[in-house]
Amino acid sequence: MTVTDIAPLPALAVGRIGDPGRERPVVVFDGVAYDARPVTDDIDPGFFDRGGLEALVAAARAGVLPATTVDGERFGAPIGEPRKVVGIGLNYHDHARETGATPPAEPVVFLKDPGCVVGPDDDVHIPPGSTKTDWEVELAVVVGSTASYLSGPEVALDHVAGYTIANDVSERELQIERSGGQWDKGKSCPTFLPLGPWLVPVEAVPDPQALGLRLWLNGEARQDATTAEMVFPVAELVWAVSQCMVLRAGDVIITGTPAGVGLGSADQRFLRPGDVVELAIDGLGRQRQQLVATDMPS
Ligand code: ZN
Repeated sequence: MTVTDIAPLPALAVGRIGDPGRERPVVVFDGVAYDARPVTDDIDPGFFDRGGLEALVAAARAGVLPATTVDGERFGAPIGEPRKVVGIGLNYHDHARETGATPPAEPVVFLKDPGCVVGPDDDVHIPPGSTKTDWEVELAVVVGSTASYLSGPEVALDHVAGYTIANDVSERELQIERSGGQWDKGKSCPTFLPLGPWLVPVEAVPDPQALGLRLWLNGEARQDATTAEMVFPVAELVWAVSQCMVLRAGDVIITGTPAGVGLGSADQRFLRPGDVVELAIDGLGRQRQQLVATDMPS
């Protein structure tokens, strides 16, 4: 039994369960899971473009969907194939300090290949030869509608569909020692973005800056913080990113990690095959990944 199986269902959430590439959508309302297929085949960028989230929540509220169960099911990422994943660096004061950086005056933005998204409890593959694969628990924002050159942070959350959990897995040698000047190389190896299990709509998250987030390595607490400690809050991030690229429905913004990553640890403890990483954010559920080695292709 995985941690996800025993975690209580959120009051309101959508998710995707089933085998990789064949996930089916579910919606949870009042703690009961319903099959979402009468409303949509999948939860993907087009789903949000069509106003699918509002329609799905309305259908669940109206009691017209068949009940289902998620017990024992594999969870996929709650958004299938996002068109892009935007990363935010150094967005917690204590994490910036532990890495020897000063908190930035402007959000640090990088891009993460959406092809590295996996389910919340799927295996994470350590790249061949890597000795510095690291963990990062993060609040992930799923964009609900096109946002470009927004007028200010006060309108930014109107463009957010909801929130989920991300592990921004990072290979520090590629990210820092062999960066070539920026971070993308260390952020996009296969399986480097476990996402989910649930997408909790904005209406069920009254304050995204009041969420506890935690990460355990082999049962030992490594990260324990709250989103109140962000340098730039979610609304400011969405507004700031909209000034330099068009955000579209289904895009994911991962909002930075607090202190407690391997890079900042006294013993420079990084991930090894066999390790188990667990992550949780208040109201959004839990993740659990096993680390496995990647063999070089012959
Ligand atoms: Zn990160």
